[in-house]
Amino acid sequence: MAQWFALKAQEPDALLFFRMGDFYELFFADAETAAMALDISLTTRGKHNETPIPMCGVPVAAAPAYLARLIRRGFRVAVAEQTEQARKPGEPPQKGPLARAIVRLVTPGTLTEEELLEAGRQNLLLALATPAKKTRGSAPCGAAWIDISTGSFETAALSQNQVEELLARLDPSEILADPALVPDPFSARVAPSITLPGLETARSRMAQAFDVAQISILGDFTDEEIRAGALILDYVRRSQAGTMPRIARPLRRDDSETLGLDPATRASLDLVQARDGTTTHTLLASVDRCASAAGQRLLAQWIAAPSTDLTLIQGRQAAWRWIAGQPGLIETLTPLLKKAPDLARALGRLSTGRGLPRDLAATRDLLQAADALVAVLEPLCNESTPPLIRSLFAGLYGRADALLDTLEKALAESLPARIEDGGTIATGFDADLDRYRGLRDDSKRTLAAMQQRYAEQFNVATLKIKHHAQLGYIIETSALHGAKLRDRPELSFRQGTANLVRFTTDELLELDRAILEAADRASATERRLFAALVAQTVSHPALPELAALFATADVLTGCAKLAQGGSWCSPQMTQDQEFELKSCRHPVVEAALGRATRFIPNDCSLPPSQRVMLLTGPNMAGKSTFLRQTALAVILAQAGLPVPAEKARIGIVDRLFSRVGAADDLARGRSTFMVEMTETAAILRQAGPRSLVVVDEIGRGTSTLDGLAIAWATLEALHSQLGSRTIFATHFHELCSLSDSMPRLTPYTMAVREWQGDVVFQHEVRKGSARKSWGVHVAQLAGVPMPVVQRATRLLAALERDQGKSVPQLPLFETIASPPDEPDCLREALEALDPDSLSPKAALEALYALRKLA
Ligand code: ADP
Repeated sequence: MAQWFALKAQEPDALLFFRMGDFYELFFADAETAAMALDISLTTRGKHNETPIPMCGVPVAAAPAYLARLIRRGFRVAVAEQTEQARKPGEPPQKGPLARAIVRLVTPGTLTEEELLEAGRQNLLLALATPAKKTRGSAPCGAAWIDISTGSFETAALSQNQVEELLARLDPSEILADPALVPDPFSARVAPSITLPGLETARSRMAQAFDVAQISILGDFTDEEIRAGALILDYVRRSQAGTMPRIARPLRRDDSETLGLDPATRASLDLVQARDGTTTHTLLASVDRCASAAGQRLLAQWIAAPSTDLTLIQGRQAAWRWIAGQPGLIETLTPLLKKAPDLARALGRLSTGRGLPRDLAATRDLLQAADALVAVLEPLCNESTPPLIRSLFAGLYGRADALLDTLEKALAESLPARIEDGGTIATGFDADLDRYRGLRDDSKRTLAAMQQRYAEQFNVATLKIKHHAQLGYIIETSALHGAKLRDRPELSFRQGTANLVRFTTDELLELDRAILEAADRASATERRLFAALVAQTVSHPALPELAALFATADVLTGCAKLAQGGSWCSPQMTQDQEFELKSCRHPVVEAALGRATRFIPNDCSLPPSQRVMLLTGPNMAGKSTFLRQTALAVILAQAGLPVPAEKARIGIVDRLFSRVGAADDLARGRSTFMVEMTETAAILRQAGPRSLVVVDEIGRGTSTLDGLAIAWATLEALHSQLGSRTIFATHFHELCSLSDSMPRLTPYTMAVREWQGDVVFQHEVRKGSARKSWGVHVAQLAGVPMPVVQRATRLLAALERDQGKSVPQLPLFETIASPPDEPDCLREALEALDPDSLSPKAALEALYALRKLA
C-alpha cells in the first residue's frame, strides 16, 4: 500500500493502473471511478485502516481497449509497471514487493498507440502562454502545439481574442493553459494542474531540447511562444516518464499566410467535422480520395488552413493537374500509396520506446515503396515537370538506402507481435544470435533423442520429457508406471500427483540449464539488436520527411482522381478582386442527394463593379446551399484543391466570413439575436476589400422594423465602406429597391415556378427579386395542421391588403379570442349537403356557396 500511495501522489489527477502480474489493478476511489466508467465489476482486496479496499482490474493484454475508453471519456491514466523481474525458479524468495514505477501518463494529447488513435485524424497537444504580468484584454499570447505521434511541432504568436479561432482551426485533443484563457467549447480539454515555466527556464529548455546554443537560432519566437513550447516539452517528458520522443524543430506559423476563418464561419461550413461531431457529411469527406490515413490527415490540414499564398496554391494545382494529365499514372500510383504504411505514426511509437517489430517492418516497407515511387516518376520527370512533383522525386530518391538495406537483412520474413516473443531478427543477420539459437535448437533435438532412450531404458513407452513452468524440463510418467520407477537410482523424484509422477536426471538437469542459458542469450541478443535497429531508424534524419512526402503524393493523387471525372475544375487564382464561379455545386449536398435527384449548379459572379449580391427567395429554395457552396469553393480553391464547378476565377480572399444557419449559443447564455449581432459585429470590424462575406438573414431575431433597419445599415456598410465581396441573403424584400442607390449591388433571387397556386423550387439563382415569400406554403409542406395554415393564409392576405395602415382591419386575435368550440360554418355547410339528392345545377351552386364560406 505504501508503494501505491507513493506512486499515486506523483500523479494525483490520473487513474493509477498498478501492475500486478497479468493485471492492471486500480484501488480506492480510482477503482470506483474506473469500474463505473468501464462497466467492470468492483470488488475489494485487503484492508486499509480496518476497511476493505475497493479494487477493480483489467487484464494487461486487453488494456489498450480499456485505456481507449477511459481516454475518450476524458480521464487520464498513469501506468505503473513492475520495474524488477519476478523471481525465477530456483532463486531465493523475494523480499518485499517488486519495485514499480510510473512509466507512462496516458492523456488525450500524448497518445502513440494504434489502438488509441484515429488513423485519419491528427492528434494535437496544444499549450498557451500569456505574459507573466497580467494585462487585460488583448494581451499577447503564445501558442505551441505538437503531434506527438508524428513529432511535428509548431508555434504561433497571437492575441488573446484570436485564441478561439486558433483552437477551432487546430481542434487539439488536449490543452495546457490557464483555464481562463480557453473559451467554452474547448474548456473540457484543459489538463489539470499545469505550471507555466518562467521565461529563462523556458529558453534553456527549448535550446537544450533542440540542441542549439540559443532558441533564437531556430526562429524569431516571442517570449510567450517559447514558454508555451517549453510547457509542451515538460508535459511530454512527464507523460513519457522521462523518455523524450523524437520531436521536429519548432516551426513558426504566420497567420497572414492562411485564409482567415473565424470559429462561427468554421461552425457554419462543416469542414472537417460536422456540427454534431460526425464526419460523413463534411467537406473533407466529399473531396477525400486518399489511399492512406497519412494522406487523409494531410488533406484535413489543408482544408482546415487554406492558404493566401498564390505561389503555394498554384504549386499544388500544377502538381495534381500534372498527375491527372499523365496517362495511367493515377492507376499506377494508387495501389502503391495504398500499400504504403503509416510511417509517421510508426516513428512516433519507435521514438517513445513503444515500437513493435511491425513498426520496423513499416519503415522497411515505406522505404521500398519510396523506391517504387521514384521508379515510376523517374521516366516522367523533366524540366517542365511542376516543381512540387520534382521536389517529391528528389526528396524520395535514395534517401535511406543504407537503412533499407539493413532492415531488409535484419527482419525475419514473418514477424512476431512483440519482440519478447522471439523471431524478429532474421537468420544470417547476426552470428552470435544464430549460434545461441542453434544451441537452443540442437539441445531440443537432444531432448527428443533422450526421451526415446529413457523410454527404452525404463521400459515405459509412454514416458515423456516435458517443459514445466516451475520445474523446467522433467520426465513425466503415469502414476502407475511412476510407482515402479520410484526406486531407480538414476532418477530423482520431483513431484507426484494422483495421476502422474515427475522425475529428473543429472543429465536432464544439465541439458535444461544449457537450453535455458542459450534461450536467454538468444533473447537478450535479439533485444539488443532490435534496440540498435530502433535507434538507427529513429535517428535517421530523412524519415519524417519521407513520410510527409508520401502523404503529399497521396493527397495530390486524390485531387487528380477528383479532377479526372471532369466535373471538378482547377480554379484560376489571381491577386486581384475578381470572383467568378461557373456552374458551381455544393459537394456535400450533391453527394447527399444521390443519383435520384440532380443537383442544380449555379453561377456566382461578384466582379469589383458588382461585388454585392442581394439574394431573396423563399425558404427551401436553396439559398443557404448557394451561400455555403460559394464559401466552400473559396476554401477548396485556396487549399489548392479542385473545385466543384465548370470554371472558376478567384482573386485571393484574405478572410472569409460565413453566417449561414441557426447560431444558437444557449450554453453560453446568449440569445440567438445576441449571437447574431456579435457575429455581425465581428464581420463589420474585420472584413476588408479582399474579404468574402456570405450572410444569411441578418436581423431575423428581432422585430421586423428593427431587423430591417439593422440589415439595411449592415448592407450599406459592406457595400460602401468595407468593399468586401458579399452575398447577402435576406427576407426583407424592401432591400431590393436599394440597388438604385447602391451602384455595386445587384438583386438576385431563387427561381420559383408557380403552378395552380402551388410552388415549385427550381434551386436556380437568377437576376431579379422575389415577389413572395411562400412562407405559409412551406409551413404546409412541413406538416403544420391545415386549420392553422388556412388561418395564416387569411391573415397574410389581410396584412398585405392593410400594409401601411397603422391598425390592420382584420381582428388579429380572432382565433385566440374565440371559444374553442366555435361552430365551423364551412364544415356545417359541408355536412348539410346530400350529394345524392342534388341536381347538377344545385351542386354547382352549392360549390359556389362553399367557396364563399372559405
Ligand atoms: P433555404 O436556405 O433557401 O431555405 P436550402 O439551401 O436549405 O434552402 O435548401 C433546401 C433543400 O433544397 C436542400 O436540403 C436540398 O435538398 C435542396 N437544394 C438546395 N439547393 C439545391 C440545388 N442547387 N439543386 C438541388 N437541390 C437543392
